[in-house]
Amino acid sequence: MEVKKKDIRALTKEQLRAFFVDHGDKAFRGNQVYEWLWQKGAHSFEDMTNISLETRKMLQDNYVINHIRVDQMQRSEDGTIKNAVRLHDDLIVESVLIPTASRTTACVSSQVGCSLDCKFCATARLKRMRNLNPDEIYDQVVAIDNESRLYHNRPLSNIVFMGMGEPLMNYNNVLKAIDKITSDEGLGMSPKRIVVSTSGIPKMIRKMADDEVKFKLAVSLHSAIDEVRTTIMPFNATFPLQDLREALQYWYAKTKNRITYEYVVWEGINDTRKDVDALVEFCKFAPSKVNLIEYNPIDDGMFQQANAKAIDMYVSVLEANHITVTVRRSRGKDIDAACGQLANKS
Ligand code: SAH
Repeated sequence: MEVKKKDIRALTKEQLRAFFVDHGDKAFRGNQVYEWLWQKGAHSFEDMTNISLETRKMLQDNYVINHIRVDQMQRSEDGTIKNAVRLHDDLIVESVLIPTASRTTACVSSQVGCSLDCKFCATARLKRMRNLNPDEIYDQVVAIDNESRLYHNRPLSNIVFMGMGEPLMNYNNVLKAIDKITSDEGLGMSPKRIVVSTSGIPKMIRKMADDEVKFKLAVSLHSAIDEVRTTIMPFNATFPLQDLREALQYWYAKTKNRITYEYVVWEGINDTRKDVDALVEFCKFAPSKVNLIEYNPIDDGMFQQANAKAIDMYVSVLEANHITVTVRRSRGKDIDAACGQLANKS
């Protein structure tokens, strides 16, 4: 029976050094190979030209390099790029490059599909197939960085975990990927330029606070009233708003990092004064700001973007209560690359 070879990028630098010592070589060889894997992005052992043929063969016999492949790249008329990324087991995830005048943001996936069941999100219709490995998350970022340099003449500046999946349900791998992204041996990006977006899993928000993570936190709130939130995000029945609120207070107390609430206003669902007032109350528990995001239809009659009057009401009531609010227009809608539209259509 053929033994399934392990992905060499699952090894830490120390483990790689130890592997070479175990095989009668120098620990330093581990550093060289590590550099090929992470800084130079080698896709095969043959690329490692300063490593002897014999050593390359030995690596080949023991390991594989499970690199992602960008299967299809779509470019929107607004400059947004969407990658369909093929994983080593032929599953597909999507990632997006969002350019603005001052920054280029990568929106990356953390899981294949999603186990949550938000009624307005296209990804929720794909059942969760598996978690992404740290290197699969890292590779998405590298691919977008390359595209940013190629098509926009500048490196990637920001990363948001707002692609497919719930990052806090794949917490360890997301953390490892961020470690690599922020490390000098990876991309050397500042954690302040990374946002992890969660549907709000209280236990994991507390864990992040305990781990003293340095990246920013966004929470997909969409309603501050339990009955409403449970209708559109059914897992809210398990993690009600009070638990979420307490976890967020804990987060702020530990990290002093203000929280961003992502919020879509839908007609007939959360567009009344009562809904705004509940949001204002929720925002008082920890320093926060609100991003009102545009709804991207996913062929479901249940949801319709609220009219401009309702959005204006949200903005004026929030501002009157000294809560920072921004109204965000969606990008890349023509290629199904906007929030909530990632569903491997192609
Ligand atoms: N699971 C994480 C990461 C996904 S982020 C989370 O829930 O935060 C994607 C963001 O887009 C979330 O804020 C989500 O609530 C929002 N979203 C989902 N479907 C959408 C849609 N159809 N239109 C606009 N935003 C949507």
